Formats: sequence, C-alpha cells, structure tokens
Amino acid sequence: MTEKLAIVSELPDGFYDFEINKILEYFPTTTLIELEGNRSPPLFVSILLHGNEYSGLKSVQALLRKYQEGLPRTLYLLVGNVNAAAQRKRVLPGQVDYNRCWPGTEMDANEETSLTQAIVDRVTRAPLFAAIDVHNTSGVNPHYAGLTRVTQENQHLAAMFNHICQVFTRPKGVMTMAFNDTCPAAILECGRPGDTAGIHHATELLDALLHMDHFPQRPVPAHDLQMVRTVATLNIPEHVSLDFNLNSQTDLRFDQNFDSMNFTEIKPQDIFAYSRVENPLIVTDQLGEDITEQIIRVESGKVYLNRTFMPAMITLDESIIRQDCLCHLLVDYESGTCD
Ligand SMILES: [Zn+2]
Repeated sequence: MTEKLAIVSELPDGFYDFEINKILEYFPTTTLIELEGNRSPPLFVSILLHGNEYSGLKSVQALLRKYQEGLPRTLYLLVGNVNAAAQRKRVLPGQVDYNRCWPGTEMDANEETSLTQAIVDRVTRAPLFAAIDVHNTSGVNPHYAGLTRVTQENQHLAAMFNHICQVFTRPKGVMTMAFNDTCPAAILECGRPGDTAGIHHATELLDALLHMDHFPQRPVPAHDLQMVRTVATLNIPEHVSLDFNLNSQTDLRFDQNFDSMNFTEIKPQDIFAYSRVENPLIVTDQLGEDITEQIIRVESGKVYLNRTFMPAMITLDESIIRQDCLCHLLVDYESGTCD
C-alpha cells in the first residue's frame, strides 16, 4: 500500500461543514473513507481528483449529513488530490493529473499510478454497485455525464443525471475506465465549481444510487438520452499566445464568451477563432493521432472547422488549457455527424 493513501472507516469531526480551503486539516493526504451501510454492493464515489473542482465535496457533505444515523448502502468515498484542492488548483506543478493516472493509463509508473492501483485493488475485492467520479467544468457547460464505455447500465446512469452525455475513450487513465469491467461507471460534470444547481443535482443522483436495488433491465428510450462522442481534442502549441479578447495582440484570439459555444453546433462557415500564425492549433483524434489538417483550416487570419461539430468543455483558463486542452469536438454518437 502506498503511504500517500489513508484508509479510514469514519468521517472526521466537522466533515459536513468544512470549506475546501481547510481540506488539509480534515484530509492531510488522499483518503479512502469506507462507510458501512445497510445494503451492498457498495457505491464507490471519487471527489476532488481535480483539486479545484469542489462541487463533489459539497454534494457528499450534503448527502452524508442526511444519513448521519445510517447509510442505506455502503459507500466508499475517495477524497482525491487534497494538496491541489487546498490551493484551488486542478493539479499542482510536479504532480500528475489525478484523473489521468488510473489503471489503463499510458503514463509510466509513478507514485500516483501506484496510488490508484492500490485503491482499485482494495475497492474491487468484492462487487461494486457503481463507480461515480464527480467533476466540474471550468467554462459554462450544461450538467452532463461522461461515459468511457457505452453499456445499457451506463446509459441509465447518464440518463438519471441529464438528457445529454458525452462518450469518450481518450484521454486514457481516467477513473471510470478502471471500473468499466467491474461495474457501471460515470463521470458527473456538474457545471462550474460551486454551482449550487450542479451540487444539488449530483447529491440527488448519489442519493438515488444509495437506494437503488438494481439498474433497469430495459434499454434507455432514445428520447431520454442524447449521446455525443468526442472526435477530436484541441490543444494550443506552447509557443502560440492566446486571449479571449478579439482586440488583443496575441497569436490566437477567441470571442470573450467563447465558452457559451459549448454543446452548440459550429458549422464550417462559422468563424471559430482569429489567428496571426499559420498553425495555431493542434487537433488529435481519440487515438492521439494528429488530424489537424482534416479538422481545421486557417484562411486570411480566420480559423474554421471543416465539418460541423459541437465543442464541449471549453475552458477560458489558460493554465488549464496548457495543462489539459482548449476543448473537445463532439458529434452525435450514433450518426457520427452534427448535421
Ligand atoms: Zn475534472
């Protein structure tokens, strides 16, 4: 077992009310809390794999406050990157991303890959009911579930959360991928950190999962869930400067409300961005192959998409863009188009 992981069987005093900036007083290191409930198999929930995304903490605080006298189902709660959370950062310099280092990751073995392996080994000793990973998006997005495998049970999970879900197979090493062979697994994207509707929404879903006996045996009706899948990921080369201000003097410029484009269609004739350099973006497919030339074109300082896509998870935060990406481009899961 790695020394970075604490395993406890009760909540620390004051758990229900503490604020994220005090997290190290309650959880000095990554902690797995195993709380016995009336029912099994247990529900596994991870929060704060990205330190700044604290809606998961708020939602489990609300959930567990409700069940102080006893949980309807055993809950394994993982409190992830506490050091980054204390500084309200997604990940700290020198750390790896805590949602890229789970079994199945492409990164070389390191302390965090051992940490996640130890967690998976422990929580999968016996069957699990479901695995849920609670996140936020840094830009404006609807609440939606992310699935890393399409199964009927996963679709039910997603539809319980909202009518739209995103399917993706890259990046590798995300939490749900480590559980796809074990139990239903979904990521909850709860809007921006602290968004109260998103917190409430996550709490309600987790509460439902504490009570559910089993997932429905019938397929999810098509009108209950629109599935979209990621086709491409957009990154900005390190040497290309950027701003979300069309009047700025940077290499690449986006509209200041660029994140309002999330989950809307951008057509080939719509201006995606403005650029004064020839190659302002790098586009990769789900296998990590460079598909920049197929996806975008730059004409007279304007950047266009070659097909209709829906962007998702646009962030306006440059540090997150540099660490992760600018956004993903989606199409309908079944038809493969947005048209
Ligand atoms: Zn996240």
